[in-house]
Amino acid sequence: MTCGYIDLGCTKCRLSKRRTLVVAGDGPCNAKVVFVGEAPGRDEDVKGVPFVGSAGKILSAALESAGVNRAKVYCTNIVKCRPPDNRRPKKDEIRTCTELHLASELAAIRPKVICPLGQTATEFFMDLTGNMSEVIGRETALTISDMQVKLLPSYHPAAVLYQRKKMRDFQKSIAAAVKAAGLV
Ligand code: URA
Repeated sequence: MTCGYIDLGCTKCRLSKRRTLVVAGDGPCNAKVVFVGEAPGRDEDVKGVPFVGSAGKILSAALESAGVNRAKVYCTNIVKCRPPDNRRPKKDEIRTCTELHLASELAAIRPKVICPLGQTATEFFMDLTGNMSEVIGRETALTISDMQVKLLPSYHPAAVLYQRKKMRDFQKSIAAAVKAAGLV
C-alpha cells in the first residue's frame, strides 16, 4: 500500500520525461520503520514498486535475518522517478519531489524510526560531513515538522552488492533499525 499523497502522473521535474512509472512507496501505513532509498532503479521503474530488484533482495534478506518480514516495513525513495542512467538525483529534483511526496508519506505514517539507505538519503535527513561508515547504525534524534523520530542510517543495499565486506555492518544496522522501532 502507498501512504500519503503521490502524484502518479507527476510532471513537476525533468525526471518525469524519461521515467516509465512513478514509483510510490510501499508498505503498511502504520509501519514503525520507514526505509528510504535514493531513487528507483530499472526494475522499479518498470514495475512501479520500490526495491524489487537485486538491491531489494539484499534488503529483504537483511530484514529476514533480523527477524522481520518485509511486509511489516514501509519502503520508499527520496525521488519517485528513475534518473537517466541511474545518475544521482539533483538538488532541485530532490527538493521538488520530497516536498510533494516524501513529506506526505512520512506525515501519514508517523514512523518511530527512519532508516535512510546510502549517502543521498542520509544527506537529506542529516549533515553528513564524512562518509557513511561514520554514521551507519548510529542513532540520532530528529524532529520533522511535529514528529520526533529516531534516525538510523545504513549503507545502500546496492553498495553492499558491489562491496561484500560491507554486508556485516549493513545487516547489523538494519537489525538496529528494526530493534529501535520495537519490531523485534
Ligand atoms: N535503489 C533505490 O535506491 N531504490 C529502489 O527502489 C531500488 C534501488
